[in-house]
Amino acid sequence: MTSDRRVPVAIIGGGFSGTILAAQLARRGIASALIDGSGRAGKGVAYSTTEPAHLLNVRAEGMSAWAGEPDDFARRFESEGGDRRGFAQRRLFARYLGEILDEATANGTDVVEASASKATRTEGGWRIALDGDENVEADALVLAIGNQEPESLSAFTGADGHYLRNPWGAEARAAVQDLAETGGAALLIGTGLTMVDLVLSLDAAGHRGRIVALSRRGLIPRSHADFEPAPVEEADVPSGNLRALWRWLRRRGAEVGWRAAVDSLRPYSHPLWQGFSPEEQRRFMRHARPWWDVHRHRIAPEVAGTVARMVAEGRLEIVAGRVVTARAVDDALEVEYRKRRSSSLKAERFAYAFNCTGPLHSMARTRDPLLRSLLDAGQVRPDHLGIGLEVDERSRPVGSDALWALGPLTKGRYWEIIAVPDIREQAAAVADDIAREIGQ
Ligand SMILES: Cc1cc2nc3c(=O)[nH]c(=O)nc-3n(C[C@H](O)[C@H](O)[C@H](O)COP(=O)(O)OP(=O)(O)OC[C@H]3O[C@@H](n4cnc5c(N)ncnc54)[C@H](O)[C@@H]3O)c2cc1C
Repeated sequence: MTSDRRVPVAIIGGGFSGTILAAQLARRGIASALIDGSGRAGKGVAYSTTEPAHLLNVRAEGMSAWAGEPDDFARRFESEGGDRRGFAQRRLFARYLGEILDEATANGTDVVEASASKATRTEGGWRIALDGDENVEADALVLAIGNQEPESLSAFTGADGHYLRNPWGAEARAAVQDLAETGGAALLIGTGLTMVDLVLSLDAAGHRGRIVALSRRGLIPRSHADFEPAPVEEADVPSGNLRALWRWLRRRGAEVGWRAAVDSLRPYSHPLWQGFSPEEQRRFMRHARPWWDVHRHRIAPEVAGTVARMVAEGRLEIVAGRVVTARAVDDALEVEYRKRRSSSLKAERFAYAFNCTGPLHSMARTRDPLLRSLLDAGQVRPDHLGIGLEVDERSRPVGSDALWALGPLTKGRYWEIIAVPDIREQAAAVADDIAREIGQ
């Protein structure tokens, strides 16, 4: 027998985006159901790590969850002896979010621990089908489901047992433990922030074997460091032309340092992105993105220090190249890869390979049943780049009613909507919009 509950707002996804939205709604006296099926409500993917080695990659002073209250996290961090210019452990940020969620649940937020498999438009709003037999009926629905799981890499088809498709899952954690005990070699495909997390996990678990981290260009995230900010006026930044912006960035970087130049664009990231034609946006994703990502999304100096030490000790090799074949042989994985600008193949055996290539950037290939149900019913459609949902200037999926999307699902429109300082602004604006829309 199915049972239904009715709420003004249903939020699917209890990571940072969903949690802060629920809290914003609670502050406005609006009750909501925060639906999360992973057991990570109040944390999401980024902040459910319990490892002390996993630090925030934004300074404490930038990590307030509340729009308009920039000091909220920094003050708390300082009261515990932290430095507002420092990088807190991610598990501390999870505790902070947990307290925010506790306050919200005392004021009308109901955490529902279940996965949503389908959302259907009804006359009065939405019906959300949960696994198990429950439905939630809501006047308004918010999709805060985060990034799509990484796509499997075709070279590793048939390499089950040695290949970890999802680096955040329990199997990956077990593989890290196994590697620490056996000292086996690990291959990490991808050299971004996910790779850095995994390298830290291996190091902290006591792994002293070989690690190869490989990506097409072999670029790794740069380190934060103090610098003199060099703000610019929006009118001084070339817009609508990627090549011109790139030239500007290089020139400005030579004058004031690359960190100051890159960060001076932050206040204008939405208009700059939206000023590009779709073709320019695609060109950015194809060619400029790897460079942009490693300079823009920097890591804490202590984390960069660990990575550099492991490279210097010969434990970690960063390779620019690509995997050609992978097959299971004698209880290991034999991988052939070609280094960039080399004509010869290198064959090497690894105990495990981890997919660290980052989230799936394709709505067309999503395997998420909830998204599929909405796409198939025409309630949402992919954005012009196919990487998220098409949303209007109020983060509402185009073509639907009483529906909002938050966070990475909206990156086609906003691009840099993946970190706390950006998502908190979006959540506050969506909470205002919902309050207006449902008349509370
Ligand atoms: C490892 C990592 C470290 C990061 N570090 C920082 C940092 O230091 N500073 C910073 O500003 N940003 C950081 N970010 C970026 C940013 O904070 C996150 O991407 C952001 O928290 C996104 O939150 P989210 O709630 O949108 O998504 P998620 O955290 O992915 O949460 C989505 C939730 O929705 C649930 N869900 C999905 N589908 C369903 C469904 N059908 N039914 C029910 N539940 C569902 C998932 O289980 C998940 O719990 C980091 C990101 C990662 C991945």
